[in-house]
Amino acid sequence: MSDETVGSWVGLDAAGVTGGLQFQQVTPKAWDEDDVDVKIMYCGICASDYGVLKGEYAPLEPRVGGHEIVGEVVRVGPKVANLKVGDMVGVGWQCDACRECDLCKNKDDQYCAGITWTLGLKYGRGAAKGTMSHGGFAKMWRGASRYAVKLPASLDPGNAAPLLCAGVTVYSPMKTYGAGTTRKRVGVIGIGGLGHAAVLIAKAMGAQVTAISRGEAKKADALALGATTYISTGKDLKEDFKGHENSLDLIICTINPDVLPVADYLSLLAPKGLIVVVGIVLTPLAVPTIPLIIGGRGVVGSNIGSPEDIADLFALAAEKDIKLWVQRWNMDDINKAMVDFGDGKPNYRYVLVNTDNGGKM
Ligand SMILES: [Zn+2]
Ligand SMILES: [Zn+2]
Repeated sequence: MSDETVGSWVGLDAAGVTGGLQFQQVTPKAWDEDDVDVKIMYCGICASDYGVLKGEYAPLEPRVGGHEIVGEVVRVGPKVANLKVGDMVGVGWQCDACRECDLCKNKDDQYCAGITWTLGLKYGRGAAKGTMSHGGFAKMWRGASRYAVKLPASLDPGNAAPLLCAGVTVYSPMKTYGAGTTRKRVGVIGIGGLGHAAVLIAKAMGAQVTAISRGEAKKADALALGATTYISTGKDLKEDFKGHENSLDLIICTINPDVLPVADYLSLLAPKGLIVVVGIVLTPLAVPTIPLIIGGRGVVGSNIGSPEDIADLFALAAEKDIKLWVQRWNMDDINKAMVDFGDGKPNYRYVLVNTDNGGKM
């Protein structure tokens, strides 16, 4: 690791997801006095890394993926108050915000219009203003200490990596909307990277969990993760949901279909229940108003989570011993891992390990 450049796996074009990531030296962001340098030991692979590197969200230019970063703080700026050298920290999808708007002041900075995503977005402030952020498929991460959250000592750092995106994306709305407290019965649509985390976390929050997935393929896993009910979906949701009407208080929808038949899913909600959408669905939702009005139901969205949400989730994971289902890959094998990821093989999350930085396989 040098002050000048960071060894990083760079996606230069769409071949980045088919085995073409190149190991290159990349210049880190310009240093700010509230920055930390983190020696990266682990980084999860998420579907949105895959999307960014494939050019699905924005025109392709050289990018370093990875936004489930865990490692050790090796340098702190003079204005860093929350961390010290030697701390283990995690960094998720967000690496900066404007820090001045009401949302930022209220610690809702994941909704700040001036958000900087951890990879592939330009910084809006500070010494690095106008330059591109780089993710965790690399040997080091540099960024604002607010977005590097300290891990509890009892949490396995390799297992914790996917909490930083998959985990907090489902945890933040469950915390906001009272999973396990005011809303006891939680449904999870889709059992994949996010959905499997949602089942584990909802159960740890004290909720009774119903998993909803296509066919029977995920049934055994869903029950092993802690769901008590499994609804298998097929061609006709109305038929599939018979007997389950009004049975859930909160539904976390993690899937990305072309069209989401939200009216059918609404039938599962009890009065005052909410569907939270965390997976992008490109076709606008057709939401019928009568079940919303008569039952006071709602359909809302949720975006990642704040650093406070991440800290709360770390604490919950440590206390309840939440173990995501993680397969570790040496980061040197990232190109093989990305190909398998694209083939839908994770069961349910891949974590890349920098063994030369002290990460454990
Ligand atoms: Zn802001
Ligand atoms: Zn992600």
